[in-house]
Amino acid sequence: CMREAYAHEKNLGFTRQAPDLGPIVIVGGAGQMGQLFGRMLRLSGYDVRQLDRDDWSRAEELLDGAGMVLVSVPISDTVEVLHQLPPLPHDCLLVDLTSTKVAPMAAMLEIHPGPVLGLHPMFGPDVDNLAKQVVAYVPGRIPDASTWLLEQIRLWGARLHEISAEDHDHAMGLIQAQRHFATFADGLHLVREDRSIDELLSLSSPIYRLELIMIGRLFGQDPELYADIIMASPDNLALIERYHDRFAEALEILRAGDREAFIARFREIGEWFGAHADRFRAESQSLLAHADAQR
Ligand code: NAD
Repeated sequence: CMREAYAHEKNLGFTRQAPDLGPIVIVGGAGQMGQLFGRMLRLSGYDVRQLDRDDWSRAEELLDGAGMVLVSVPISDTVEVLHQLPPLPHDCLLVDLTSTKVAPMAAMLEIHPGPVLGLHPMFGPDVDNLAKQVVAYVPGRIPDASTWLLEQIRLWGARLHEISAEDHDHAMGLIQAQRHFATFADGLHLVREDRSIDELLSLSSPIYRLELIMIGRLFGQDPELYADIIMASPDNLALIERYHDRFAEALEILRAGDREAFIARFREIGEWFGAHADRFRAESQSLLAHADAQR
């Protein structure tokens, strides 16, 4: 219940960090992330308004005196929606939640001469609260004007990580786009080989079971979300093409039957992982023990 939640959150001390801020307008406020941030901002005492698809005729009125505009529309619509915005009050803070940062940051800086901040929450809309979640942020313009917002997010329990838009998109390309694409290709491969999943599972040790789970879980989700994540930027395609080249490079070692080369590459990669390789092995062992106990 909302009232109980409010009382509870108030006890947690979601003190409003910008007492004099004008209304906050969430563009795409009816969506999943828009609702989550709307709820958190209301719980912290802000006046929150929503500007969704059917509200454009009232845009000027909704944006009148806005202290902050938060854009939370689908990735592929973000730049277009930003250009659709009427001029904002000059001291209004313009923020977005888009999972990519280079294109939205450029568009925000282009359409608004005032303060700009990019955010990327590293979690989905289904979290109960923000405790221990990570939010990446990209300073845009007049960083002092967004200090209160970062402090507010910290009060919600999240950990903030500052990064440039370019570094963010490259890291996300590796963590999300290319990983998900590789999983997509794994799925395609399994479909084409068409061996029974039950049979594969019955022949799998816990680690292979977990690997199969990690592939299969993708296909229980929304294909449009993954299409958007993977195809979010031309840089992702370039990254995936480099991945494809390295796959070919690795395959060439096999074709040549060059066992020495395989071992040499293996050692080179192991050195790059360094101490992490041992740590990851220990961590995966405890994960596996846990996963096995859960079954
Ligand atoms: P969503 O589809 O649930 O919500 C998008 C909202 O935008 C909808 O209410 C839709 O009606 C509205 N919208 C679409 N076009 C519009 C327009 N022209 N004008 C006004 N409103 C419009 O999407 P979501 O999952 O909430 O994602 C929103 C943003 O959050 C995206 O940029 C996404 O990258 C980012 N994000 C999402 C997640 C996630 O897991 N869902 C995680 C991190 C970041």
